[in-house]
Amino acid sequence: MRPIVILRRCASYEPDRIRGIVREGIQAVGDLPQGKVLVKPNGVIAHPEYFAHAYTRAEFLDGVLGALRDVAPQMAELAVGERCGIGMPTRLTFNNAGWHPVLKKHQAKAYFFDEEPQVEVKLGRTPRLRDYFYTPEPVARCDYLVNLPKFKTHPWTTLTLALKNFIGIQQDEHRLIDHDHRLDEKIADLQEIVRQRFIAVDGIVAGEGRMLTPAPFPPGLIIMGNNPVAVDAVCCHLLGLDPKEIGHIRAAHAKGIGPIELSEISLDGDVSLEEGKAAAKGLKAGLIRVEDFFRGTRITAHAGPPPEEMHFDYCWGGCPGAIEEAIDIVRKMQPDADEKMKRFTLVFGGYKGPIEPQDGQKVVFVGDCARWEGKICGRAVRIDSTYVDRKEKDPHRAKSESIFRKMVRMFWILSRGRNEQVLRLHGCPVSVSEMTHLIAGVGRTKNPYFVPKAAVPFLRAYVVFAVVRLFKRLLGMPDRKRAVEPPPRLTA
Ligand code: SF4
Repeated sequence: MRPIVILRRCASYEPDRIRGIVREGIQAVGDLPQGKVLVKPNGVIAHPEYFAHAYTRAEFLDGVLGALRDVAPQMAELAVGERCGIGMPTRLTFNNAGWHPVLKKHQAKAYFFDEEPQVEVKLGRTPRLRDYFYTPEPVARCDYLVNLPKFKTHPWTTLTLALKNFIGIQQDEHRLIDHDHRLDEKIADLQEIVRQRFIAVDGIVAGEGRMLTPAPFPPGLIIMGNNPVAVDAVCCHLLGLDPKEIGHIRAAHAKGIGPIELSEISLDGDVSLEEGKAAAKGLKAGLIRVEDFFRGTRITAHAGPPPEEMHFDYCWGGCPGAIEEAIDIVRKMQPDADEKMKRFTLVFGGYKGPIEPQDGQKVVFVGDCARWEGKICGRAVRIDSTYVDRKEKDPHRAKSESIFRKMVRMFWILSRGRNEQVLRLHGCPVSVSEMTHLIAGVGRTKNPYFVPKAAVPFLRAYVVFAVVRLFKRLLGMPDRKRAVEPPPRLTA
């Protein structure tokens, strides 16, 4: 049967209206939930004031959970699970997003994926980047996965919808592996872990231009379906984009996850594709190179190709994108950061041109793959790549690093280099949280982690997270479980 994509009009966040629309959507798809049902919203980051349009809204989740209860009252379990981004404890995102009262209302369980054991799942489809992945146990064991992405345009992957939302089914140490110039292929591989049985995209108010700090744009749409490639392809058409031009959609299609051509997708709903396009008209989408992103600001950026440069001239999924997100977090917390910031230069990858900072301005070579040789303010400088080939990065041996450890490491690097003009920052990728400390340290802006309004709830959530992890260890619960062949129901 051809996958179905349903476009429905919904102008506001009214849970009862959303519930009715989603109930009809599930019935139209005809694949009723059963067994353990896991709902995966987008909670990469959430805060009603600072990150208001980055996450799946509580009212949307409320409507979907209600609809699931309506159509499948006999489910063995109804749960909501997520791993949020930038090293924050996921508990914080559930609190900030306002999801807990909704879970209580619908008697749904919460799974904070960073507190769950990670299970190894073998992959089999080709082409693929990895032979196995780790995913939290609730994902590996669920019978029916419901994906609830937020409709967002994204400067590294153009869009983040059903396929990209799966980045949140990995704990950090696994999530960051291949989160570089091969991110598109990683996203495609992730689809093999578990099949998305029902998808409802929160496109009532979309997020424009950023992953963490998007601007609001109201298409007033809910987009539903039963195949992530088909859903994402139709969303591309809403924006006038060709899905074949979007790397991760093309990669997932190439793995046989779903159809990319409109002729192979059944369209349904009370909104035609043309009406949907009119509703989304003006929502900007596009990749932004880091040099262009910072043009006209006090940060100068230079970027050259990452390794494997015969295939890639830019690292779309790694360090350059991470700094774009980091600066916007700084700007959110300190609106005048751009005027107050000290000037500095960032260099990524195999940049070959001149580096000409004014005297005293710092130059930071970011990421393991940075390599450069020449003179900076008359001084000879040579930076060698320390990039480790991905074949050497075994997920079995991947280690997590707490956000506090990263913080201490960054303070150490920045304080040791305070009198140096040239700094080197290692990592592949260097994460958004590390970039945030970098901007605060080198640019002398406020560190978002120390803004009291955000820091106090963060610390509270972190303490609970750490205590829960400790208790689980004391009770003998393993952090990781070895390979299980995915049962057939898990394969996409
Ligand atoms: S070090 Fe950074 S820029 Fe280089 S390949 Fe890794 S993620 Fe990309």
